[in-house]
Amino acid sequence: MTKSDIPASSPVVVVGAGPSGLATAAMLRRARVPVVVVERSGRIGDGWRAHYDHLRLHTPRRLSSLPGFPVPRSAGTWVTRDDWAAYLEQYAVHHRLDVRTRTQVERVTLGRRRSVAGSTAVEWLVRTGHGDLTARAVVLATGRNHTPHVPHWPGVGSFTGRLLHSKDYRDPASCEGRRVLVVGAGNSGTEIAVALSRAGAARVWLSVRAAPNIVPMNSSRWQAAGIWARRLPPAWGDSATRLIRRLFLPDLSAHGLPLPEEGLYARSARDETSPVHDRGIVAAVLDGRVRPVAETTRFRGALVHLADGTALAPDVVIAATGYRTGLEDLIDAGDMLGTAGRPPVTGARACPDAPGLYFAGFGNPLHGALYQAGVDARQIARAISRAGTQLGSPFPRPRSRKAMQRT
Ligand SMILES: Cc1cc2nc3c(=O)[nH]c(=O)nc-3n(C[C@H](O)[C@H](O)[C@H](O)COP(=O)(O)OP(=O)(O)OC[C@H]3O[C@@H](n4cnc5c(N)ncnc54)[C@H](O)[C@@H]3O)c2cc1C
Repeated sequence: MTKSDIPASSPVVVVGAGPSGLATAAMLRRARVPVVVVERSGRIGDGWRAHYDHLRLHTPRRLSSLPGFPVPRSAGTWVTRDDWAAYLEQYAVHHRLDVRTRTQVERVTLGRRRSVAGSTAVEWLVRTGHGDLTARAVVLATGRNHTPHVPHWPGVGSFTGRLLHSKDYRDPASCEGRRVLVVGAGNSGTEIAVALSRAGAARVWLSVRAAPNIVPMNSSRWQAAGIWARRLPPAWGDSATRLIRRLFLPDLSAHGLPLPEEGLYARSARDETSPVHDRGIVAAVLDGRVRPVAETTRFRGALVHLADGTALAPDVVIAATGYRTGLEDLIDAGDMLGTAGRPPVTGARACPDAPGLYFAGFGNPLHGALYQAGVDARQIARAISRAGTQLGSPFPRPRSRKAMQRT
């Protein structure tokens, strides 16, 4: 159910109807906690529809499904962008979620505090373009990939070519016959580079800051193993993934993509970087269709300068340089937010300084953010359900952990 007018209050407000917000709302409903989801776009899934046309999930269907309603088998193992967006819409209908679309949340602030049964009850004020609403608990699910991030390269303003973020790139045909520099060797950057090289770009360079950990794409078992391996010491996972790479992928060192010194698990533990799934990048680098080059350092007129002292003259630069959370615009963050605007806590834990405030979907674990969305959702729903009394008055009794896991 989606509509755009908003009620004056709701026990729980979820901000954002992406996978994390929808899954959390679904699990709250299962726990019989009333919840309203507030979404800025006109239609569920629009955020995904705005990504490039040839996007497919890099996590397999079964590990991407949200709790209580699997992605249909007809979508195949690697779900297309449009099938995924349609699934999110169906998910909201299936769980009968109350989603208020076209409603941008501008600010979330802590309102009154009062004492209830020996603990502090709070009221949150959610300011939207259509008026304010109050809530006892707020779940921020506005996305880790909220605001496209382009580094402040010196001289970038003088660049005479076209510069765009990967979020604004649609399809490779627009770059036919052009020399394109893709900056950033993550999943988006490598996928875009491969698509450009296949669609007739005159030259495709891939600017690499840190050599990525590339994993074979031919098996969804790899990601299932990631879920199992998360309990092992990172060094074990690193040895296993190095072995897999040596066995299944050729050495690209001579082509400008050496094996990274830091293993997949160690790097993920440090900065939550995902591995790069080989969707053709290995073959494209081997046969020279995509040429890895050094880190981009500055721009001057038509030239882009690289860390090794060389310079290129691309017609188009696509910055696949990631996103920021944009949370600082939404909450009175103070010193609550960490590097790149990350929240201080995720999942079941509410902010110590902000009772009733939860963050869903801000991690990027190796087993996939979509799988984690389900984990966060169950944890947050249980925590909110249990915290009912502290948040003002009890919510109806939560369902048992077992019952919620079955959904
Ligand atoms: C190109 C790309 C491909 C990815 N592929 C995968 C993959 O294959 N597998 C995987 O596990 N992960 C993948 N991820 C990572 C992650 O799973 C996705 O980013 C996923 O969409 C995160 O879900 P989310 O609900 O946390 O955030 P989002 O999907 O970003 O949803 C946030 C929602 O909040 C809304 N919103 C934001 N601000 C406001 C506001 N102020 N008021 C109201 N509404 C607001 C947005 O409109 C949006 O609908 C991918 C990420 C990207 C960028």
